[in-house]
Amino acid sequence: MSDSTVDAKLELKQASKDVKESENVAEKYSAMTVSKNSELTMGELSSVLSAVPTHKPVKKQIQFVEDKQEFSKFPTKTGRRSLSRSISQSSTDSYSSAASYTDSSDDETSPRDKTQVNSRGSSDFCVKNIKQAEFGRREIEIAVQDMSALISLRKRAQGEKPLAGAKIVGCTHITAQTAVLIETLVSLGAQCRWTACNIYSTQNEVAAALSERGVPVFAWKGESEDDFWWCIDQCVNTEGWQPNMILDDGGDLTHWVYKKYPNVFKKIRGIVEESVTGVHRLYQLSKAGKLCVPAMNVNDSVTKQKFDNLYCCRESILDGLKRTTDVMFGGKQVVVCGYGEVGKGCCAALKALGSVVCITEIDPICALQGCMDGFRVVKLSEVVRHVDVIITCTGNKNVVTREQLDRMKNGCIVCNMGHSNTEIDVASMRTPELTWERVRSQVDHVIWPDGKRVILLAEGRLLNLSCSTVPTFVLSITATTQALALIELYNAPESRYKQDVYLLPKKMDEYVASLHLATFDAHLTELSDDQAKYLGLNKNGPFKPNYYRY
Ligand code: NAD
Repeated sequence: MSDSTVDAKLELKQASKDVKESENVAEKYSAMTVSKNSELTMGELSSVLSAVPTHKPVKKQIQFVEDKQEFSKFPTKTGRRSLSRSISQSSTDSYSSAASYTDSSDDETSPRDKTQVNSRGSSDFCVKNIKQAEFGRREIEIAVQDMSALISLRKRAQGEKPLAGAKIVGCTHITAQTAVLIETLVSLGAQCRWTACNIYSTQNEVAAALSERGVPVFAWKGESEDDFWWCIDQCVNTEGWQPNMILDDGGDLTHWVYKKYPNVFKKIRGIVEESVTGVHRLYQLSKAGKLCVPAMNVNDSVTKQKFDNLYCCRESILDGLKRTTDVMFGGKQVVVCGYGEVGKGCCAALKALGSVVCITEIDPICALQGCMDGFRVVKLSEVVRHVDVIITCTGNKNVVTREQLDRMKNGCIVCNMGHSNTEIDVASMRTPELTWERVRSQVDHVIWPDGKRVILLAEGRLLNLSCSTVPTFVLSITATTQALALIELYNAPESRYKQDVYLLPKKMDEYVASLHLATFDAHLTELSDDQAKYLGLNKNGPFKPNYYRY
């Protein structure tokens, strides 16, 4: 039997096992409604959580690559000694939806050198300027409008406090949307201390607003590498407070605790990790037998994946292109490399604007999907001379090579929505015969000796994270998933989760989606008893087996 036949048989076997598992789970939910209007009480929510079976951790065969980033491009202002490990890629990828609207350039003093006190008399925080709290509060109030799922979680928590006693240390982007999450966790009974996972993304006024309300935040926009680790340390290493939960985005906080305070893990009930990088690190720890607490991979939950990859990119590709180029995309010849989730989103958006879109693919299934959706499937080398825009979305490396860059026409726009930094061979353009001209923030003209210009956006980094905003609604999905994962890990009986990495149970994924349906006044159809029996489902879900591809 060939390897591929064996693989296919194993997959089928696993698939039928998944169906059985999900059927068993479904039986346990029979008394509960998740669908209509999402009106679950906190008690019912607990049932959602407690009905989750002790399931096998999901092992992913991902080769972990330690993402290290040279830090020298961003010199520290303080001149303090750098720590041994460079901060991760995610700590330096910019994320401009999170950009602070306040101008901090007028105050060059490092927050570490200031003494600030909030109106409660506490100085247990370190932000740019606590006086910006009122402005930050307005930002949070705007974000709340599009994060109603978290607000409904809060309402349900009025009686019960599923996070009572939880001491959560968090390391995420500090934005208005994160503030809504943090304040939801506090409403659910948790104490939180927070730091930023990215040195550029902190909204200073939001950090101030949180600190003013009594959540110790250690973060500001434009931290040095040394500041970055100092802030993490301030969150973890504090007298009289020890975390028992970790919420991480990128794995830097988890890494710091492992390195510096391994004893803290004796009290930690679980780690919730949101990023690809951080999840890879957890799987690697698990593989090495070094993961000493359960961890929840929220990055791979269905709702998050769909919203981050497909729907978010469908919106933010245009935002990024427009802000950087002012170009009209109707009638433009566009090539999208890779027709996966991100590529599908980009193609849909550009097609809707009237662009003439072609795709490139290596996978015949995705290529055929592209054909069915009305896109020509081409090789980049066939069309590279004529196209106006090239967008990479493959997760691969060297998808656009120097040879292809040499053949592009004058004014061709090249950008990346896929894997940070690798898809376009940017390094190959850093040669003496090519001139680089920075024409505006995140836009370079690379000029060939004959005067031809290629317009490179965000130096080949993720266009939308560098040059556009991410819709609050997308972040609401992620934040709700994180909140539920924290509740689950905190409340689960010890036997449910081992020292391994788990995906959020499908039932909870469905619950995250159902909480967001109310925004659209969407009315779910309920299965009749007869229909449920016919499909072999519980009326309250889960509605799909684990292998289902949405
Ligand atoms: P995916 O696996 O669904 O799609 C990638 C597609 O690229 C696949 O269909 C694959 O066959 C194809 N491909 C691979 N190499 C190729 C090549 N050389 N030429 C043409 N096609 C090729 O993945 P996805 O969910 O679409 O994510 C793609 C990348 O985007 C990942 O790196 C992911 O981390 C990143 N991502 C970016 C954002 C963002 O906000 N910009 C959001 C989510 C994910």
